[in-house]
Parts: sequence; structure tokens; C-alpha cells
Amino acid sequence: MTEQSANIGVVGLAVMGSNLARNLASREGNTVAVFNRSWERTETLITEHPEAGFVAAKSYEEFAASLAKPRTAIIMVQAGRGTDAVIDELTKVFEPGDIIVDGGNANFHDTIRREQAVRETGIHFVGTGISGGEEGALNGPSIMPGGSVESYKTLGPILASIAARAEDGEPCVTHVGTDGAGHFVKMVHNGIEYADMQLIAEAYDLIRRGTGKTPAEIADVFAEWNTGELESYLIEITAEVLRQVDAETGTPLVDVVLDAAGAKGTGAWTVQNALDLGIPVSGIAEAVFARSLSSSAKQRAAAGELPGPDSESWKPSDPEAFIEDVRQALLASKIIAYSQGFDAIIAGAEQFGWDIKKGDIAKIWRAGCIIRARFLGHITDAYATQPDLVALVLAPYFRDAVSAAQGAWRRVVIAAAEAGIPAPAFSSSLSYYDGLRAKRLPAALVQGQRDFFGAHTYKRIDKDGIFHTLWSGDRSEIETEPSWH
Ligand code: NAP
Repeated sequence: MTEQSANIGVVGLAVMGSNLARNLASREGNTVAVFNRSWERTETLITEHPEAGFVAAKSYEEFAASLAKPRTAIIMVQAGRGTDAVIDELTKVFEPGDIIVDGGNANFHDTIRREQAVRETGIHFVGTGISGGEEGALNGPSIMPGGSVESYKTLGPILASIAARAEDGEPCVTHVGTDGAGHFVKMVHNGIEYADMQLIAEAYDLIRRGTGKTPAEIADVFAEWNTGELESYLIEITAEVLRQVDAETGTPLVDVVLDAAGAKGTGAWTVQNALDLGIPVSGIAEAVFARSLSSSAKQRAAAGELPGPDSESWKPSDPEAFIEDVRQALLASKIIAYSQGFDAIIAGAEQFGWDIKKGDIAKIWRAGCIIRARFLGHITDAYATQPDLVALVLAPYFRDAVSAAQGAWRRVVIAAAEAGIPAPAFSSSLSYYDGLRAKRLPAALVQGQRDFFGAHTYKRIDKDGIFHTLWSGDRSEIETEPSWH
């Protein structure tokens, strides 16, 4: 072992850690120290990739000794207890000024807690979102680091060397904000990913059932869409998934895959935290719930005979026009999903004291990550022009796009309801849009109900103060202080 010869280390050499270590080693100037709890994984990696010149360690002490100071190590282990265990070990062998990076999918609340604890030792702790799966880790992910500004001075150039590059050559990494900001933004990224995937799935379902096109024919539709405003990684891979034929049965593979979608939890975290922040991320929530419903095997089996329209015999009068309507509905709903996601980021930044540059977030999502899309350039432009934009959907480009699409969007939601085809993300996005633009909402009635049964009080539109009414008594209105139950 060469003493202090590596400028960066990776702990945890399963698929993500190995690929990230190889990516780091492939960049000029980097020497990478590697360590895994069980030696077998380390041995496999160094045997299969001698070209990487890894400095392999058999213990945390050896790992620390192989790193030049300030030591910088990226943890890529199973999120949760695994991360805590590695942090405990690294803090024993690292020194003040060294940097521990957690690149796993940590819950940002854990990252805030860990950062506070590690900071007391004088060591920097940087929770970092990394998106792009195995392929991204190897060839260039989108990277969302939190942590201190000081640690980013050392870490930034290393992360920039391995990050994906956008078309203009910019690396897809930026210092998102302090402590848990990086993992928070990664969480919302994943939430948006859920919504995007659900919207695409709904578009596929409507086209298939409405036009009778085969999966391969619908793959052509998606490939065509991928040449326009909807161009994105998810649309591109959707076409590939739909084209796949099952070798065993010769049928489209999508038809033999069980229709029960799994989840690893980041979508649910986005919704849970948005609920806490009071931010309606209805598109993301519907996407998470749609996966839950798809996996509710018992209920679905029992409900199969419930009455409803015969969706199999429903056909739009002009199939090609319907496909174009679905494309526009997809674009409009996607704009809502991103608008809601950015609302959550803005609210999170306010709540946790992060100075998050919204336009920079859209920039680092342009390549490497799962939601990479042409569309993201417009988000960067929107925030560059109006840094205090109240909602993304209000930016001229998005407002015009939704305005142009809304006729189609409404027709698609009506068609889905009439045909009895579930389109929860399309319809909830449209309801959100209409709720946002409504001059007056029935929330006034809800306030009345709340005051009736719980004396929760209400405000009036015509005078200041807080009011409570004796609703079922003499109906007199009295001014009062709020009383919370
Ligand atoms: P993983 O299956 O999540 O975790 C396996 C790794 O964790 C192994 O190296 C294992 O060591 C190590 N580990 C578990 N508990 C440990 C402990 N108590 N102490 C030390 N090491 C421990 O690996 P992965 O799929 O490569 O993912 C790594 C991280 O990246 C995770 O946080 C994951 O959420 C995140 N991530 C994954 C993806 C993806 O596409 N897979 C994408 C983005 C982010 P042993 O070999 O000794 O068991």
C-alpha cells in the first residue's frame, strides 16, 4: 500500500460504489482508495479493473492512511444503518478538516442529524444526492451535494470531474445548499420522476385502449414525441420498453410483466414532506398512490366486477387527433408536476434555511439523471429571468405551453372519465391547475364547516379580524381571538 497516495476514496463497493470508483479512477489526476466491509467485493473490483489503479484497503485504518489530507471519502452503502455504521468507523480514523460524503439515498432528515453530529468532530459531512443509476455512476451522474461551503472547495472539482456534462459542456453538479439540502433536492427529483413515469404510463394506456395500437406501434409514437418538446430520457426508454418482445412467448414483454409497480420510498418521502410543508404535490402523490393501488392485489381481485363503462369498446372518433391530444395533456401535466416539485424545493429551502438556486437545480438535471429532458432548459431560463417566480407554471414559456395544451388536456381527462380508464395524474394535475387559477374556491364553505363544529374561526373578505359564528343558534357573528382545538 502506498501511504497517502489517493486524493479520493470510496467506501461500499456494490454496484453503485464500484461504478463510481471506476468513474473517479478514469479521470485524470485522481487516485482512488477503495474499501468494502467484506473483502470479496474489493478483491473482485481490483481484479476485474487493474487499469483503474485502485489503492485497496482491508481496514478503515488502512483506508484512512491511504488518503492524502484533507482526506475525502464517498460512502456508497445501503442507506440507513449501513451509512451510520460507516460514519462511526470513519470518524474514528479521520481528522478535523477531512470530508465524509454520503452518496447514498439518505433521508435528508438523517443527513441533517448526521451533519450536526459529525461537525462536532471538526470533520465535514456532505450529504450528496446522486442520480442516474448504475450507468450514471459509471459514466457521469447528476450530483446534488449539500454540506458546508468550505468542504465544497475541495469536493467540487472532484465531483465536477465525474459528473455528467450538459450539451453546453457544463458539469451537472452544484453546491445545492448546506447540510441536508442535497438529499432534499434528490428526494424531490425522485418525486418528480415518479410523476413523470406515471404520466407516461397513463398516456400509453389511453392510446393503447383508445386506438388499439400495439406496444410496438406506440413505441413509434413515443419515439416521434422524443423529437419534440417532450424529448427526455424517460420518453426514450419508454419506447424501448414497449418495443421489447418476450423471448419465451413472442408477445410484447410489457404484456407479460405483472402490473404491480414497486417503490423504494423516495416518492413517498417527497409527499410526506410536502404534506408537512403544506405544499400540494398532487401529481407526485397520485403517482405514488397509483403504484400502491397497482400493488393492492387483494382489493383489485375483489373489485374486478364493480360496474363501470365498457372501456374496451370505447374508441375516440379520430384516433390520430386523440394521440395528439394525449401528447399535449402529457406536456401540460408534466409542467404541473415540475411546478409542484419546485414549489416543494422552495418551501423546503425556506423551512430549513437553504439558499437554493432554483435555476441551477434545473441545470444539473439536464444530463446524467433519470428526469433529464429538453424541457429543463426552460426552467433554468424561467428562474434566470424571474428569480422570485411564484410558481413555475406562471413563467411565460410554461403558461403559454399549458394555455395551448389545455383544450386537449380537458378532452383527454373527459375521455378517460367517460371510458372508465384511470388517469389519476392527468386529472389531478388539471384539477390543480383549475384550483390555482380559480378566483374563488369552495374553501370558504370548508371554513364555515370548521367553524360550525369546532369553532375554528374564519376571516372575512370585507374586513379585518377573526370571526366565529353561532351557526345553529341566533346566527349572530362575533369577533373573537382564534381558539385552537
Ligand atoms: P446496496 O445494495 O444499497 O448496499 C450494499 C453495500 O452496502 C455493500 O457494499 C455492503 O457491504 C454495504 N453495507 C451494508 N451495510 C453495511 C454496514 N453496516 N457497514 C458497512 N457496509 C455496509 O448498494 P448499491 O445498490 O450500490 O447502492 C448504494 C447506495 O446508493 C444506496 O444508498 C442506494 O440507495 C444509492 N443509490 C442507488 C442507486 C441504484 O440505482 N442502485 C441509484 C442512486 C443511489 P458488504 O459487501 O460488506 O455487504
